[in-house]
Amino acid sequence: GRRFPPPWQTRVFTVANQKGGVGKTTTTVNLAAALAKAGLKVLVIDNDPQGNASTALGIEHHSGVPSTYDILINDVPISEVIQESDVIPGLYCVPATIDLSGAEIELVSVVARENRLRNALAAYLKERSRDGQPRIDYVFVDCPPSLGLLTVNAFVTAREVLIPIQCEYYALEGLSQLLNNINLIRAHLNPALHVSTILLTMFDGRTNLAHQVAEEVREHFPDQTLHTSIPRSVRISEAPSYGQTVLTYDAGSSGALAYLEAAREIAKRGALPPETSVDQAVDE
Ligand code: ADP
Ligand code: MG
Repeated sequence: GRRFPPPWQTRVFTVANQKGGVGKTTTTVNLAAALAKAGLKVLVIDNDPQGNASTALGIEHHSGVPSTYDILINDVPISEVIQESDVIPGLYCVPATIDLSGAEIELVSVVARENRLRNALAAYLKERSRDGQPRIDYVFVDCPPSLGLLTVNAFVTAREVLIPIQCEYYALEGLSQLLNNINLIRAHLNPALHVSTILLTMFDGRTNLAHQVAEEVREHFPDQTLHTSIPRSVRISEAPSYGQTVLTYDAGSSGALAYLEAAREIAKRGALPPETSVDQAVDE
């Protein structure tokens, strides 16, 4: 069917990988678009000063537009910042502007600096339910490629971590550091945080290397890795310059179908229990 089952509670994902250019933003916007097209309500929080997720969703985000920065620094509620996509109804975005690049430093002296985003999201979800608005089913927080206070805020906000892994050389490099950081967050700030989902991106089935990387990732993370991998596709990389996701830019393309299938898997399988530990697996 074309509609996906709603989760039994709002699922909040942080899309993270300390490497840049591995497909975090691409995965965030295309999974969000696929879930929204399947009838669910989806919120993307752009938590990267680059604002690439906002661009790809066609959301206004020039300097001065109310944004993630205002939520983190100025106590502005999400309801005053959120924008709905013109292209896909039910898809919402909290945009990032260039102002967010200063937040990393400014947050240092802010009270409850690690909890700013979590508190704002909790208040917003509560406000929607109080006002009888339809529930947000999925939240995706798109992160910069670093572990500063912006990413810490995202890890404190989410229950689930989604790690996109590019099927290239050194794919697993840096991963144990990411998993260590997630463990630290779990120990000190957010006991519910766990890696629920791994998605192989930019998979080129013609190369042995891609198959080797995919095999290695599946060996380490058998339960977390989605069966669907995302192929390398020109249509995927073209879509953002039209302010679109590949789901609307070229709905029949291999990239669009792959993201749709990955979203279907995520919707179907639900979250793994927080006890599941993947860091042990990677150390072996
Ligand atoms: P990150 O957010 O991790 O830095 P991006 O999602 O911005 O990574 O992707 C990095 C670059 O790779 C972008 O130019 C994007 O368009 C491109 N890209 C991402 N996924 C694919 C894919 N499956 N096929 C082709 N290009 C891709
Ligand atoms: Mg990005």
